[in-house]
Amino acid sequence: MLRTTIAGSLPKPQWLAEPEKLWAPWRLSGAELEQAQRDAVLVALKEQEAAGIDIVSDGEQFRQHFVHGFLAGVDGVDFQRRQRIGIRANRYEADCPTVTGPVRRRKPVHAEEVRFTRAHTTHALKFTLPGPMTIVDTLADEHYGDRARMAMDFARALNEEARELEALGVDFIQFDEPAFNVYLDDVETWGVEALHTAISGLRCGTAVHICYGYGIKANTDWKRTLGSEWRQYERIFPALAKSRIGQVSLECAGSRVPIGLLSLLEGKDLMVGVIDVADPAVESPEAVAATIRTALKVAPPERVFPCTNCGMVPLARDVAYEKLRALAAGAAIVRGELEKSRARKAKPARPQASPARKTAGRRKPGRRKPGRQSAARPRKAPRAKGRG
Ligand code: ZN
Repeated sequence: MLRTTIAGSLPKPQWLAEPEKLWAPWRLSGAELEQAQRDAVLVALKEQEAAGIDIVSDGEQFRQHFVHGFLAGVDGVDFQRRQRIGIRANRYEADCPTVTGPVRRRKPVHAEEVRFTRAHTTHALKFTLPGPMTIVDTLADEHYGDRARMAMDFARALNEEARELEALGVDFIQFDEPAFNVYLDDVETWGVEALHTAISGLRCGTAVHICYGYGIKANTDWKRTLGSEWRQYERIFPALAKSRIGQVSLECAGSRVPIGLLSLLEGKDLMVGVIDVADPAVESPEAVAATIRTALKVAPPERVFPCTNCGMVPLARDVAYEKLRALAAGAAIVRGELEKSRARKAKPARPQASPARKTAGRRKPGRRKPGRQSAARPRKAPRAKGRG
């Protein structure tokens, strides 16, 4: 229970790309770059494992951009024709490749990366792919003229890729869909359907990551316009609750998401963001534990996966890894509390309990642990396949 994980990206070492910069260009090229990326993955794995993260990722060390990485192996996308366009409903501008023809996966894209990463960790492994809606929102289009149709072609390409990665030993495939928080109507009309195509036939864990974005200025400015309560999730969670996606992520650290919205995702595993990626201040383990306890008012611990709010690539490296340690330490605090509480419940209190037994004897008579009894009881066994 409370298995920890991360949204996906981690800072790149300074020898690989300029630190604390989104989409920073590589410092190397060719075989030197490939070697450096693999070295960076080893660092990322080691740091996650040492911090105590249960479900690890490659930290996205192989890709410069979380969307464009996958597109490198897709026909119909012209990387030479980059256009500056407004994305996420014009929240900010980015130089985006252009779709110039039908979209089709030309070759395996991430297989070698996954083979390498899988070979170097015994932990459960997550791999992130961009979601279909976010892909079409991060491209200029000169071919389809219809975002839903274009998204379905990308979804088919993603599905081919995802099946291959599953066969290579990935335990969780996560689709990153920050665009879900922007195009709320589209989520219901075609966004979830495109995700279903992307996960079709998968038996590993599946997840969708929805967020309020990296901690960059355009996003923090946008968040200021969202009012005292962020209710975007309210519009899209009902459609996700009905979907076949296994896990849904949501930002809970330093956000104005009303915690009650989690109850709209009944039956789903929740990746609960307990680390604020927009704030360089490192959370204390106790602050992380407090956020987890809030989530546990709505969902049982088997369904809660403490996580970062979003990717950490723009953060300073030492800050990011300190935050991972806080994440794992906070989860450990709550896990300890739950284990104690379950042990107490499993062993009915006897009036003449021996005072020498330290483990069960701590509870003061008459003091009852607050919180709902039912919250600690899993509705079903956790689906996650662990490796480590
Ligand atoms: Zn995110």
